[in-house]
Amino acid sequence: MEGESNGRVRVSPLEIDPEQFRLLGHELIDRIAKLLESLPTRPVTRGESPLDIRKALDADRGLPSCGEDPGQLLHRAADLLFDHSLFNGHPRFWGYITSSATPIGALGELLAAAVNPNVGAWPLSPMASEIEAQTIRWIAEMLGYPQECGGLLVSGGNMANIVGFLAARQAKAGREVRTAGLGDARLRVYCSKETHTWVQKAADIAGMGTDAIRWIATNDRMQIDVSALRQQIEADRAAGERPILVVGNAGTVSTGAVDSLTDLAAICREFDLWFHVDGAYGAMAAIVPEASPQFAGLGGADSIAMDPHKWLYAPLEAGCALVRNREKLRDAFSYHPPYYHFETEAINYYDLGPQNSRGFRALKVWLALQQAGRDGYVQTIAEDIRLAGELFRQIAQTPQLEALTQSLSITTFRFIPRDLKPGGDEIEGYLDQLNNELLTRLQNSGEAYLSNAIVRGRFALRACIVNFRTTQADIEALPPLIVRIGEKTDAELRPAPLRR
Ligand SMILES: *Cc1c(COP(=O)(O)O)cnc(C)c1O
Repeated sequence: MEGESNGRVRVSPLEIDPEQFRLLGHELIDRIAKLLESLPTRPVTRGESPLDIRKALDADRGLPSCGEDPGQLLHRAADLLFDHSLFNGHPRFWGYITSSATPIGALGELLAAAVNPNVGAWPLSPMASEIEAQTIRWIAEMLGYPQECGGLLVSGGNMANIVGFLAARQAKAGREVRTAGLGDARLRVYCSKETHTWVQKAADIAGMGTDAIRWIATNDRMQIDVSALRQQIEADRAAGERPILVVGNAGTVSTGAVDSLTDLAAICREFDLWFHVDGAYGAMAAIVPEASPQFAGLGGADSIAMDPHKWLYAPLEAGCALVRNREKLRDAFSYHPPYYHFETEAINYYDLGPQNSRGFRALKVWLALQQAGRDGYVQTIAEDIRLAGELFRQIAQTPQLEALTQSLSITTFRFIPRDLKPGGDEIEGYLDQLNNELLTRLQNSGEAYLSNAIVRGRFALRACIVNFRTTQADIEALPPLIVRIGEKTDAELRPAPLRR
């Protein structure tokens, strides 16, 4: 018989006893609070090279064979991350479409990890599964979408769109694609040329290949050309191909353009196609009264992708896929009959998407939705849009800057030296090069962070404000900063033939 002392107490190198956990947790939270406090006075990024970063990390060090002190490890990790990160929570971060993250979301992630429910299966996560279901209903409600829809949280917009795409394939392929494969089905999908690259990954993953995508031209507002779309669908049908899906954009990634969703919904009804809306970035703007008319028709989508880690400001990662008819989601992913618990149907999320084991992504979203409430989100998103409009106006009033587009919270523009008149290949080519270099220098300066877009064939600077920390003063600081960096870059870069 084993003695009590060595049989009942297991000493694990991974355990942290509750007293030490409390201590380490408090220290870490204190450090995080200080980081958040210091964000406005830090550079957005230090613009270090991969070599700098690897050196700071001591990247070549081998894995220690003996364990190390957890307190020291946490401090070292915080030091590395605080000193060598790009902070998308900085008030002057306006690159790509990455939001500032809610502090309550950070605490929610800690809580979710501590309880560690596996939200693949209801019995493994009874409360967490129901919190995810409630989160889905609330998101649907905010978008004006039926609350009985099917839906789940996934890693991001790419996965949410892929889920919608696979649901469409199953629903409209007209054959048993999940068992028999695609065979000679000549399935075709339609989207504008402004559509995000997820659609290529989806067509590839779905076994259709990227040649199945019909890239439809856009109008001068970067929205899908609806009559070109109709012509392409008719031509494909006449050629014996099988159109199945139209993708509408509710906020394109480069300029925030919103396609005419009512027109797309009507075409999909007429031709019996699945209507999917990529609202990864923009869909949540539908709750803002001044923006909502642009989203008419959203409620008619068969599926919607939206990203809580964009305009709900959740910490990465959280994407959300919604499918109007929840059975279509099961049809696309399930290998089990519906699951009942005490005669109530209970959701096993592994039946609604590609994942099996799943983390508790919903908690951080669910907490923030309640912290701000619907009104808080309306106000915050509206303010982001207002600031983007304000930036556009200030740029339009700055002589060396050309304002290009503004839609939702994305403003695009470029720097043009006073003595250069845009037009002609030589000058336009130089302006592309100049703005590209200006952007690199701005990004490395850490003073503000933008990314770029191609607007009507030209290289543009692009500010996307999905940031509840950005103030009017932050916006007002940008045009003079761009002019200062632009003038210096131009002085160094301009080729002799373009000098006067
Ligand atoms: C961001 C974005 C995506 C991709 O979403 P991820 O969360 O980065 O995977 C797709 N479509 C649009 C319109 C987006 O803005």
